[in-house]
Amino acid sequence: RNGYKCYKNDGRLQRGVLSSGCPSPAPPPPAPAPSASPHAPPSPRGPASLAASGLRRRRSHSPATDLHGCCCEPDRPIGYGAFGVVWSVTDPRDGKRVALKKMPNVFQNLVSCKRVFRELKMLCFFKHENVLSALDILQPPHIDYFEEIYVVTELMQSDLHKIIVSPQPLSSDHAKVFLYQILRGLKYLHSAGILHRDIKPGNLLVNSNCVLKICDFGLARVEESDEARHMTQEVVTQYYRAPEILMGSRHYSNSIDIWSVGCIFAELLGRRILFQAQSPIQQLDLITDLLGTPSMEAMRTACEGARAHILRGPHKQPSLPVLYTLSSQATHEAVHLLCRMLVFDPSKRISAKDALAHPYLDEGRLRYHTCMCKCCYTTSSGRVYTSDFEPVTNPKFDDGFEKNLSSVRQVKEIIHQFILEQQKGSRVPLCINPQSAAFKSFIRHAAKTRKK
Ligand SMILES: [Zn+2]
Repeated sequence: RNGYKCYKNDGRLQRGVLSSGCPSPAPPPPAPAPSASPHAPPSPRGPASLAASGLRRRRSHSPATDLHGCCCEPDRPIGYGAFGVVWSVTDPRDGKRVALKKMPNVFQNLVSCKRVFRELKMLCFFKHENVLSALDILQPPHIDYFEEIYVVTELMQSDLHKIIVSPQPLSSDHAKVFLYQILRGLKYLHSAGILHRDIKPGNLLVNSNCVLKICDFGLARVEESDEARHMTQEVVTQYYRAPEILMGSRHYSNSIDIWSVGCIFAELLGRRILFQAQSPIQQLDLITDLLGTPSMEAMRTACEGARAHILRGPHKQPSLPVLYTLSSQATHEAVHLLCRMLVFDPSKRISAKDALAHPYLDEGRLRYHTCMCKCCYTTSSGRVYTSDFEPVTNPKFDDGFEKNLSSVRQVKEIIHQFILEQQKGSRVPLCINPQSAAFKSFIRHAAKTRKK
């Protein structure tokens, strides 16, 4: 279903959250100063931006056709969560439906500033069909009024969590083509030196053609090559958390993402969460129920308490053959690959690159590049395939910009400048249309999410 195909590019557009052609951020109005006005509007706008809205308002001659028009989709929320609010909106430049995300709590403190800046940088860096990237960042207002960042991305209709819990049938072809795309995206991210650290079905967006994109880089970071340096253990949703994190390892690698993919692969086959525990300790117990008691070697990076917990308990034998009972789709090939991902010792777990070479994924690759990808194309004499089915990135993502960030004000200025630099393309910049009813509703939803 393509909701925007019949969209008419007329005066109705100005009713949406986005407006285009907004000139460069105007200087702030002379008064009142921000500090003197506690009731300043949430999204202050310069006079030029207001004038632009007014212009578009006058052009709109048939208000009766807006919002409730037969084929004009209204802007509406499509997702909530710790990540903020995501809206499905119309890009007024081409009438296409896109996703608009408001980055939450950007300038609260230095930590959140850095986190958001890192995520923004990543979203602008990514160029891969199976990784969500920024199509646009909305034009920021003058720096004195710069409080919010809005990112426009491609609109995806669903995610893997919604699909798995839905009643719709999932064939083994679905499982193969989804897993192929997850690993294809992950191979790219890992080649960029990035750990996602929150791979879960809800962060794998899927459109109506079954194209899958990895999203939400709020917890992502560059890999740490120095094993002596501690990394946070406050990562990955519990059900998908790798055993080394559950066991308190101070250092981990991109293989934590592969563990999550293994859990998702099993969930695709069985349509239920593989390790659904109530607590991190029970999570570890469920893992050892399946894999057996790990060897001392496999626990070498664990913290003392976690190792003691394992050694105190009964010695468990592995029970991997139960994976064949996940579903009729759990063939020998599928279980073989699954067992290469669900390996307790991270250094022995398969990499995304090697997983892609597993025969289980051959059909997924063929299907993807035959009718879903953008890297191959069809001519009158047949399909022309790309020379590289699973591309990597070179150079890696560079997080050197994080080194000298020392104050909220400084980061704010750098982000402001960064966004303006992104706008240097040929497209007309986008900004928020604060006059729209949809925008007021957007702000209300965003505020509600913040309180939760
Ligand atoms: Zn292709």
